[in-house]
Amino acid sequence: MPQEITAGSHVWVEDQELAWVDGVVTSVNGNEAEVETINGNQVTTKLSKLYPKDMEAPDTGVDDMTKLSYLHEPAVLHNLATRYGIKEIYTYCGNILIAINPFQALSHLYDTELMDSYKGAQLGDRSPHVFAITDVAYRAMNNEGKSNSILVSGESGAGKTETTKMIMRYLAYLGGHAAAEARTVERKVLESNPVLEAFGNAKTVRNNNSSRFGKFVEIQFDGRGQISGAAIRTYLLEKSRVCQISEPERNYHCFYLLCAAPPKEIEKYKLGDPKSFHYLNQSSCYELVGVDDSHDYLATKKAMDIVGISVEEQDAIFRIVAAILHLGNIAFALEGEDSSVLEDEKAKFHLQVAAELLMCDLEALETALCKRNMVTPEEVIKRSLDPLGAAISRDGLAKTIYARLFDWLVKKINVSIGQDPDSKCLIGVLDIYGFESFKTSRSYAFTALLDDGPYSALELGPCVVKCTSLKGYEELLLFEANTKCLAEIGFEQFCINFTNEKLQQHFNQHVFKMEQSVYQEEEIDWSYIDFVDNQDVLDLIEKKPGGIISLLDETCMFPKSTHETFAQKLYQTFKDHKRFVKPKLARTEFTIVHYAGEVQYQCDQFLDKNKDYIVPEHQELLSTSKCSFIASLFPSLNAETPKSGKFSSIGSRFKLQLQQLMDILNSTEPHYIRCIKPNSDLRPEIFENVSVLQQLRSGVSILGIASQYHNYLFVNLNGKRKTYAYFILDLKDAVWLSSAYEVIAFIFSVEENVACKSIMEKVGLSNYQVIQELSFSILFLT
Ligand code: ADP
Ligand code: MG
Repeated sequence: MPQEITAGSHVWVEDQELAWVDGVVTSVNGNEAEVETINGNQVTTKLSKLYPKDMEAPDTGVDDMTKLSYLHEPAVLHNLATRYGIKEIYTYCGNILIAINPFQALSHLYDTELMDSYKGAQLGDRSPHVFAITDVAYRAMNNEGKSNSILVSGESGAGKTETTKMIMRYLAYLGGHAAAEARTVERKVLESNPVLEAFGNAKTVRNNNSSRFGKFVEIQFDGRGQISGAAIRTYLLEKSRVCQISEPERNYHCFYLLCAAPPKEIEKYKLGDPKSFHYLNQSSCYELVGVDDSHDYLATKKAMDIVGISVEEQDAIFRIVAAILHLGNIAFALEGEDSSVLEDEKAKFHLQVAAELLMCDLEALETALCKRNMVTPEEVIKRSLDPLGAAISRDGLAKTIYARLFDWLVKKINVSIGQDPDSKCLIGVLDIYGFESFKTSRSYAFTALLDDGPYSALELGPCVVKCTSLKGYEELLLFEANTKCLAEIGFEQFCINFTNEKLQQHFNQHVFKMEQSVYQEEEIDWSYIDFVDNQDVLDLIEKKPGGIISLLDETCMFPKSTHETFAQKLYQTFKDHKRFVKPKLARTEFTIVHYAGEVQYQCDQFLDKNKDYIVPEHQELLSTSKCSFIASLFPSLNAETPKSGKFSSIGSRFKLQLQQLMDILNSTEPHYIRCIKPNSDLRPEIFENVSVLQQLRSGVSILGIASQYHNYLFVNLNGKRKTYAYFILDLKDAVWLSSAYEVIAFIFSVEENVACKSIMEKVGLSNYQVIQELSFSILFLT
């Protein structure tokens, strides 16, 4: 029986500031109710917009959402907030773990005693914890001889990397060796983290230690469940950061660490105040609260020792880091009409130091920066670059060197840890950026409007969702306008969102398989379930030939192409594609209807960013460096390496890497951890409802249980508490139906009510009530 809301009922009502606030109904008038909220407001609202509040819920919340009497949005949010308030940062949602970043050290949560207590414990026997999930994965691997994986998702700063490290520590504890000499494998695995973080992490607006690359760590085990090897794969390092940063962010940590090295090193590398380097002083942030760069420099070197990077190699690595800083200070001035010369004595000094550190010829370096070879049938002519061209050339050189250095580190670590060819089982841990666009959520849009200004931009991040699909909320169009000018959504976001489409598909398939077996077990007739996934978006992006990546490659190979011709090609090819939209009046923008919402991309930089291009003069210069380490980063060209100056596609390579990742994940039993960032100030004890809700709603890969699909319906038959059954139906548009007691359903479209009704009858629900209208996706159930 649905519970009736009458005068005196305790309810949740929507609130602009708090998202949901509780109150008491003072009167009911037809289908409207008056509510007095606990923050002292009188609200008149439709009955259908009220949610019953569970007055018997324990003060400390419940450790598994499925224990909630009402599994609706305010109840879930309230439960998480309550638990966060008493420093319970972990909560289950069935067998998915939700982790809310505490933004403070909770050392008691991760000590060895606690590890002991989770060892071998059943999920649910002890409080929710990342160790519990890891233990389940480890046991499943040992018992069933099957590989497992743990997928950690969430937005930037939500705690993915920290969670990943806890998983690795716990696995090292479970699968560690008793004998000291055998313990090196797990030590190397753990110490790879600080090394990669020094070179691949940076302070951003959203996280002081933000990973600027994706990572998949594969830990291999032998027949006795002991760690026998490991492999680390990284994805898409953000190269542009090496040359370009903006307030209040920083460049990669390693630059600041080196500037804080002991005096001997500073002298050797001719370094000094970070403020004197162009690649660092584009932002006024040099120091991080609570971080001692000079201490971290030594710690990084120690970690490098452990992962097997020799002292000589370390010297070469830091020499390169210093050389990049000096390169950045080589400024150019105009000479004659369109040539460039070094700007002043200072520029000459840095050129000289850079050449010394890179162990290459000074004049050759200058020429490589300021001139280009023009090859004509008769001869090779040296053409001068103007100062801007020379600066671009210099930045290109710096980025290429850095990227090759990072790849070298990853490769070296893998060689040093070693892979176990006989390993039967592995546990894979994935730490990769989430779909960073925010959903077209009503309350979120309101906040964006309220905070109109840079704040909303920070919150919104690089990917922004268009809101036009929401009828009747004109404000949202304004929201769109605000955000568009503040965030550039380009090639990187395209790749990130492509990744998340892949992960979403993987998740859908997994959930679907699970559901199927539940239906079979419970003998539920599910013949009408028609499962369709996001294959159409994936085809749009990656189909070969004909997908966006293919078209991009074709465009890149054609010398006269511009981003405009690329855009035209897209408009033409996909004019009838359901998932592709050409925005009105757009010339170089296109929109993809992702599973999590629409994202409008700016394709100005797509061509350049897709080209993995090394200027032949740069290649030539560095391959002849007297430092063998540097020369080895730029091996002379042979048949295997792509020819310098020739186009090789970043997009296609990324697609391939992603496919390999999916192949591994598909061969494993997955487990999911969903990290949540409780506030954007990165401060402890602050739980911002609106922001958390928005993350739950976007529920990428995890909570959203694919409810984002415009065309599907998920009914959660929660009657048998521990059993979930989702019925996936094919309907249009959305209405959220709910019978107040045990069943919550999301149904799409009021117009389709007839269909809804027959479905509800089919699943045996005759008594349901329309609670809220939603013309767009969202909401979660697991
Ligand atoms: P992400 O990888 O999702 O971008 P991080 O894992 O780097 O986020 O976390 C951001 C910051 O939040 C960390 O540097 C740390 O200060 C804090 N943090 C995250 N998880 C925890 C945790 N479990 N305990 C304490 N602090 C944490
Ligand atoms: Mg991270």
